[in-house]
Amino acid sequence: MSHTKTGAWRADTLIQWLNGTTGSAANRRVTSVIRLFRELDQARLASVPHLGLFPQSKIKPTTEEIANSRKLAAVRRRLNAQMRRYRFSLYQVSNVKVRLLGSEPGWDVSWKHSIKCEAIPVVMSREGDTVFMNEGDAIIRLFYLGEEGHFHRIRQCQQCTKWIFARFGHQKYCETRCQQKSYKSSEEWREYRRKYMRGLREDAKKRSERTRQRKQKSNFNHPTKRRRYTH
Ligand SMILES: [Zn+2]
Repeated sequence: MSHTKTGAWRADTLIQWLNGTTGSAANRRVTSVIRLFRELDQARLASVPHLGLFPQSKIKPTTEEIANSRKLAAVRRRLNAQMRRYRFSLYQVSNVKVRLLGSEPGWDVSWKHSIKCEAIPVVMSREGDTVFMNEGDAIIRLFYLGEEGHFHRIRQCQQCTKWIFARFGHQKYCETRCQQKSYKSSEEWREYRRKYMRGLREDAKKRSERTRQRKQKSNFNHPTKRRRYTH
């Protein structure tokens, strides 16, 4: 069993789990946790009142800052409520971690969960070794990825909604085919819209032309107005 980067196989198995459990309640719960973490990240970016101000301070938080901090608290509450379902405990896996100079081999410490629900096999090495993974494992892997700073790389393809682990910052699609499909549909949509707008303009032109002709005709037929033309 070999895996070059620790984060890579974790991300890979999590992505396999997300794509392999689509439509299940467990999948909905984990994706909801991912969504809430994303909301939390965004809420953290917004400006909030500065902490540690004296009550007599002249600097008062703005309405926007107060609203932002309320939003941040609300997202945190929702996330905590979702996380209450999971219980984790620490355990020592083995004594095989890198031995530093003059020390005994370090502990390899990990988290385990007590979630008993359906697990699916996921491939975790190039050789094809599989491991069974359930909702609890998915949550633990999500946290490890967050700890390593890779949370933002877990995203869904904007064309087919398949989960991906982005290899570069702005990756939006799972593969070139989806990127081309999305580009084509946006091109087709632009073309459709162009034609539609042109049609609207032509219709309006025709309508105003008809109104003008009708007016001219009715003025001509009108006895009082007719005089103007006859005299
Ligand atoms: Zn795709």
